[in-house]
Amino acid sequence: MASDVRVRFAPSPTGHLHVGGARTALFNWLFARHHRGAFILRIEDTDRSRSTDENIGAIVEALQWLGLDWDEGPPAPGYRQTERFESYRDHAARLVATGRAYLCDCSPELLDRERQAAQQTGATFRYSGRCRDRGLSAGALRLRIPTEGATVVNDLIHGAVTFEHSQLDDWILVRTDGTPTYNFCVVVDDVTMRITHVIRGNDHLSNTPKQILCYEALEYAVPEFAHVSMILGPDRSRLSKRHGATSVQAYRDAGIPADAMVNYLVRLGWSHGDQEVFSRAQLVELFDIKDVASSGAVFDTTKLEWLSQHYLKTMDGGRLAELVEPFVRAAGLTPPADRARFRGMLDTLRERAKTLVELVEQGRFYFEAPTAYEPKAAPKLLTPEGARRLGLLIERLGGTAEFTAPAIERVVRALTEELGLKLVDLAQLARLAVTGRTASPPIFDVLALLGRAEALARLRRARALAEGAA
Ligand code: GLU
Repeated sequence: MASDVRVRFAPSPTGHLHVGGARTALFNWLFARHHRGAFILRIEDTDRSRSTDENIGAIVEALQWLGLDWDEGPPAPGYRQTERFESYRDHAARLVATGRAYLCDCSPELLDRERQAAQQTGATFRYSGRCRDRGLSAGALRLRIPTEGATVVNDLIHGAVTFEHSQLDDWILVRTDGTPTYNFCVVVDDVTMRITHVIRGNDHLSNTPKQILCYEALEYAVPEFAHVSMILGPDRSRLSKRHGATSVQAYRDAGIPADAMVNYLVRLGWSHGDQEVFSRAQLVELFDIKDVASSGAVFDTTKLEWLSQHYLKTMDGGRLAELVEPFVRAAGLTPPADRARFRGMLDTLRERAKTLVELVEQGRFYFEAPTAYEPKAAPKLLTPEGARRLGLLIERLGGTAEFTAPAIERVVRALTEELGLKLVDLAQLARLAVTGRTASPPIFDVLALLGRAEALARLRRARALAEGAA
């Protein structure tokens, strides 16, 4: 059954989606899905000089990649703040009419002088209230806040946080040039979008008492608030570019599966016992905003890679093939048309790779013949004796009834015994010949997956090289 719960993710499109933003979006999404409410995407683009359509596109794409679908939001009209000015104007007019806001014509110079004077005495600057009772009809619009008492934010994560009114001032709702301020837009949007729970980064906690006073002035019910702690770098300062990649797209492009990213992000602050791996359905079922920690969480790339590896190892094979394919193509390679064969190749690779990029790199030899052989191993293995052994391998492998891993293994073992060698002698030789490397997935699987024609062609090429080495 649907509920009245309505939450929103409200990014400012001044950059790409940051992991912190992605986690905020995820917590909102999980909260909405858990309560069968609505998840709304709102684009806070009133800072026109720094907001771009390209960034909006990148944010939308990153959310889609993470699978955080919204019930309301772009491309439908009305979900960008620049499309909502009429509503801000109406609400400003209401506050003027009720006397809860007033116009102020203090010049920037005057305010600067007051600010400097405050700085000299070490006090926080607060607007003096000079225009409160002047009844002006032009200027900047300020909210008339109570001079005494305090506003308490009953935060779902942090508990009650008290802000004395003596520390707040009559903040500006609409600037002299008619543009609404950020905090005012957020309040008007949250009330008109009927948001019930505001879940956002705790860098906004200091805005919340101001916003609550504005709800009260508008005589609207105040929503619930939950301020999520910041994501930290290993040095425990707020995560930033100098700690490494911070945009979600960078992780997508590095080949972290979206499900692993979601699983990683949710554990940055939220926990359920000591469980680390969650399916999305489990997250929806278990998520409770009250289980989000109030302290900051450290971004740990090693753990992200561990989760990524876990997902690569355990996800459905067809799904893995789907995810890998664009990475194969991006590396300039072509996956085989035969899907079963492609999946077979991936099955030999998925145990070891931490990312999709790494998986393609480790499996490159499946899609293209080696152009070089490991320089340390080649002089030892690609010798005249190596050529003789390769010749025998080629002959025997050319004659098997079927070219499967067990059939290949039987042939190679028999030849090993015949020659009085150890299995590793022939296995390493064949491995170097077909992959160019001395480490690869199990060689019999590799040969079988390459198919007889390709495997033999590679063995012949290596033999020619080894013959020339005399
Ligand atoms: N636009 C703000 C930001 O990107 C979020 C404001 C809010 O969630 O209230 O940080």
